[in-house]
Amino acid sequence: MVKTNPDLVVQSIAAVRSVVGAQPAALHEPRFAGREWQYVKECIDSTFVSSVGRFVDLFEAQLAEYTGARHVVAVVNGTAALHVALRLAGVIAGDEVLVPALTFIATANAVSYCGATPHFVDSEAASLGVDPIALREYLTRTTEQRLGVRVNKATGRIIRALVPMHTFGHPAPMAELLGLARDFGLALVEDAAESLGSYYGDQHTGTLGVLGTLSFNGNKTITTGGGGAILTNDSALAARAKHLTTTAKLPHGWQYVHDEVGYNYRLPNLNAALGCAQLEQLPAFIEAKRALYSRYAAAFGGVSGVAIQREPGGCRSNYWLQTLVLDEANASHHDSLLQGLNQAGFMSRPSWTPMHQLMPYEHCPRMPLPVAESLAARMINIPSSAGLCAPGKA
Ligand SMILES: *Cc1c(COP(=O)(O)O)cnc(C)c1O
Repeated sequence: MVKTNPDLVVQSIAAVRSVVGAQPAALHEPRFAGREWQYVKECIDSTFVSSVGRFVDLFEAQLAEYTGARHVVAVVNGTAALHVALRLAGVIAGDEVLVPALTFIATANAVSYCGATPHFVDSEAASLGVDPIALREYLTRTTEQRLGVRVNKATGRIIRALVPMHTFGHPAPMAELLGLARDFGLALVEDAAESLGSYYGDQHTGTLGVLGTLSFNGNKTITTGGGGAILTNDSALAARAKHLTTTAKLPHGWQYVHDEVGYNYRLPNLNAALGCAQLEQLPAFIEAKRALYSRYAAAFGGVSGVAIQREPGGCRSNYWLQTLVLDEANASHHDSLLQGLNQAGFMSRPSWTPMHQLMPYEHCPRMPLPVAESLAARMINIPSSAGLCAPGKA
């Protein structure tokens, strides 16, 4: 039986202060310490600030090299990347798509944009990702194979795909989830928006499923202002991704011929210029974020009732957002800890409201979600910027 710690809030604030110092600290600030001004100026001087230009091609090539994905298509944001990835994975109107209840709303929204319905699944405490054991048991019980597709027996709808998300940068249990997707005939699309620089074994997250997606929003590990990318090893899917995200325009010197309803989702060259400069600093950012984790872990080693989320075994996390997890006996400290940290100037945030508790998604199908609900009530993200542990600030 774990005892409650009456001094948990005071001790936690002191632990954060011992790591980040007495000054106020943001949750996650971008860091522009490289060639950002140089590349953005070069982009503006070239006049190619929009959807054509050398920085888009360079950014895609450098992302491919960094992640090991054979193909990368840069897009306007991570949500658009997910939307197109789901379409390319075969998701059509009327389908259901398995997504974690514990995620940012973009994962569920992308399913809705396809005219499909998100079907919420539970998470595991070790990785904060989709629980493969509980999901396998649930699908075995509630779905059946009909004419080569997996059907939800309760709704009669086809379950087309599974979208694991690598929560706060920690890789989901991909071997088990890939096995499950294979056994149930589901397309696996990874929402790797939070996990640029995170590896499952020696494979970069977002490259294990048929498609994966990244985000370069202002609060992510690197930023292009707004931006995202689709990763795939499949040349045909990559070509389709580029086509769909560039209004489905057929290549031609001057004519406007579009062969389907596409999207204006291409990343502008101006944003890609910022991205190229950010990517050069990514290894240093990850080193700083991992060092920050070690310092937090040491500081919280002496605070009973709360721990810092650690990367799952066999994985290497980018530690995008550092996460405090209260143990169950101390869950009642959640709100006072949030309030105390924020009042002390250390910007802290609860986890997302689980999707099935949000108005647009409260009527969607879902499996029992005890772990997602429990984690959501016990997690707090604390200051995580790479700048907090950058060289010269150690
Ligand atoms: C950030 C994020 C996205 C994509 O966000 P955009 O702001 O559209 O780039 C998608 N899923 C998750 C889990 C995210 O954290």
